[in-house]
Amino acid sequence: MLKIEHLGIAVKELATSIPLFEQLLNTPCYKTEEVATEGVSTAFFQTGDSKIELLEATSETSPISKFIAKKGEGIHHIAFEVENIEAEMKRLQALGFELLNETPKNGADNKLVCFLHPKTTNGVLIELCQEKRS
Ligand code: ZN
Repeated sequence: MLKIEHLGIAVKELATSIPLFEQLLNTPCYKTEEVATEGVSTAFFQTGDSKIELLEATSETSPISKFIAKKGEGIHHIAFEVENIEAEMKRLQALGFELLNETPKNGADNKLVCFLHPKTTNGVLIELCQEKRS
């Protein structure tokens, strides 16, 4: 894996968390994007080589609603950038890691993504992401 691409943080309301993180990081939010298929609205901040992704649920059935109901706001996932997401998914599956999606899916920020089940990664939700190549 190439680097930590971003940390995902579950928040109740982007409207209050965006200004909070703008103050905290002393940098403006550079992009907001809704991923309808995942039931989330996202907001991105660049911090050096890495990013912070804030995630707000857009429906009751969103994974973010469930996460916040169970654990409250906080760190939701760690995303690693990979060169070839399909090769990395095969490699990890062969080692016994459970993938939450069998094929890469469209994520925010022009990425193909795949999540690993936290039960096989010490309770940490891991996202693999690869920049979409056109
Ligand atoms: Zn993410």
